[in-house]
Amino acid sequence: MTESQALVRLQQIDLGLIRCERTLSGLPQRDKLAKIKVARRRVATELTKMLGQRKDVEMEINDLDKTRVSFETRVTEAQQKANDSEEGYRSVKDFEAQLSDYAKRLEKIQFDTDKLMAELEKLEHADKNARSIQSKLDEEERAQTASYEEAAADVTREVKALKEERADVVSQLSPELLERYAAAVKRFGGIAVETLDGNKPSACRVALQPSQFSDIRHGPVITECPYCHRILVTES
Ligand SMILES: [Zn+2]
Repeated sequence: MTESQALVRLQQIDLGLIRCERTLSGLPQRDKLAKIKVARRRVATELTKMLGQRKDVEMEINDLDKTRVSFETRVTEAQQKANDSEEGYRSVKDFEAQLSDYAKRLEKIQFDTDKLMAELEKLEHADKNARSIQSKLDEEERAQTASYEEAAADVTREVKALKEERADVVSQLSPELLERYAAAVKRFGGIAVETLDGNKPSACRVALQPSQFSDIRHGPVITECPYCHRILVTES
């Protein structure tokens, strides 16, 4: 294979790879898999958020529990004080007032605890739901991946063969030419190399003037199109 043939083949291979990629990205499974990925990320974020909320609620419940124990101790102490004749309350009324105050506080603690417990239960329920959605997404992802691999098998094989051939073709081109090709691919968005179809370059299709045509035919095999400035291969 001459260098000009290798260059033309490289262009064909790269266009083939672009076509394959287009086919693969057009498979509906790709879109579905992308959506699953987004949904999974959303669920994972939700789970992390809920974990934080649960920890906060659990901490609040814990604090309330400590406060409850401290008030229960105070009730016991008040009762002991009442029984102690020397350090006892000045009156039954004071003792009752104190006990009623503690009882109110304990009641409020219980009320707050119940509210937090309900909240915790709700969070646990939501967590369970999110995990169930997560495992459904896993399942869906497995199914879509398998379906994608099956649908893409032929194209994937073609991509593999093209890539192998590309490595071989690239090894036959000089670094300077490869660099020139890469720059032209970038500049022209894919089609960087033209060949001659009669007196017309294959990409821009602008007929060369007879004198230009003659100059080009007698010049180097790898040149530049005078119209579109793509790499023009006059013989391949
Ligand atoms: Zn051209």
